[in-house]
Amino acid sequence: MSRVYNFSAGPAMLPEEVLKEAAEEMTDYRGTGMSVMEMSHRSQAFASILNEAETDIRELMHIPENYKVLFLQGGVSLQFAMIPMNLMKNKVADYIVTGQWAKKAYQEAQKYGRVNKIASSEDKTFSYIPDCSDLSVSPDADYVYICENNTIYGTKFRELPDTKGKPLVADVSSCFLSEPVDVTKYGLIYGGVQKNIGPAGVVIVIIREDLITEDVLPGTPTMMQYKTHADAGSLYNTPPAYGIYICGKVFKWLKKQGGLEEIKKKNEKKAKLLYDYLDESCLFKGTVEKKDRSLMNVPFVTGNEELDAKFVKEAKEAGLENLKGHRSVGGMRASIYNAMPYEGVQALVDFMKKFEKENL
Ligand code: PMP
Repeated sequence: MSRVYNFSAGPAMLPEEVLKEAAEEMTDYRGTGMSVMEMSHRSQAFASILNEAETDIRELMHIPENYKVLFLQGGVSLQFAMIPMNLMKNKVADYIVTGQWAKKAYQEAQKYGRVNKIASSEDKTFSYIPDCSDLSVSPDADYVYICENNTIYGTKFRELPDTKGKPLVADVSSCFLSEPVDVTKYGLIYGGVQKNIGPAGVVIVIIREDLITEDVLPGTPTMMQYKTHADAGSLYNTPPAYGIYICGKVFKWLKKQGGLEEIKKKNEKKAKLLYDYLDESCLFKGTVEKKDRSLMNVPFVTGNEELDAKFVKEAKEAGLENLKGHRSVGGMRASIYNAMPYEGVQALVDFMKKFEKENL
């Protein structure tokens, strides 16, 4: 059975080249006589894997010296607690709620302090990004929080909010390494790797050094303190070693493609193909305000639930998998992360055209 085009929102498609290379190294990693899964995380071989992964992501994102890169576990959702526990010195934080993931982070933070929702797009089912150019940021806010790309709804911040000098904290899970970023604009950037970078189980946190302190909320577990992991170079305890190894391979794959500038061009080309068709189709339509469209997650509907279900079923039969929208919104969603080739989006658009002819 050959591989399908997998439009899953995450865990998602990885570059075939990376999977093949990992398969070749599965039982004997470069003459060590063992798999990376079987090797001590204190071994020389693993130290090289971890160091190279960090060096490569630093190079890809141009991460300045005064930021630490941490490879952690616990999924994105653990960060919803870890962020306030570590950063809420004044016990005040401002959240911009643009989808379910931002909302979950906002709700979790309420356990730890006074949390203000300073902007939201919930009034229109999160189908747009609110104007964040002049928000009433709390004078004593420890940080301002965003989810930069909203996986479920398919919106992305094209411009970062004006945080009035407060550190910006961003969940970039579904747009990680999809285009260049200016790291200096953030206090903390983090994301799960299971969409654009690697297997579930690894979370990468890029955090400005001055935000890493011992002054955390009382009772914060040792494992949930950024300082613990920063001081130990992500080796405080056994890290998600195999996952980090795959992330490292994806970083090298990205470098080979020409880095984030080139990846952005490819992602724009893929997204344009799909959005242009959605804009001209008489059957399908996009659900998001055009100016806020994500390059990574593209939701669309026919307006008829039965027809949506028929589309998802027939697409699957044609080798186009996981096109069902998130269970909370219905319809369809095509996630077209870095590893989705242009040909995959072309195959989707061709199939949609055929479906439109047959069903209109
Ligand atoms: N944030 C975003 C933007 C997501 O898309 C997701 C879901 N994949 C999460 C957070 C939650 O991730 P996790 O399941 O790793 O907690």
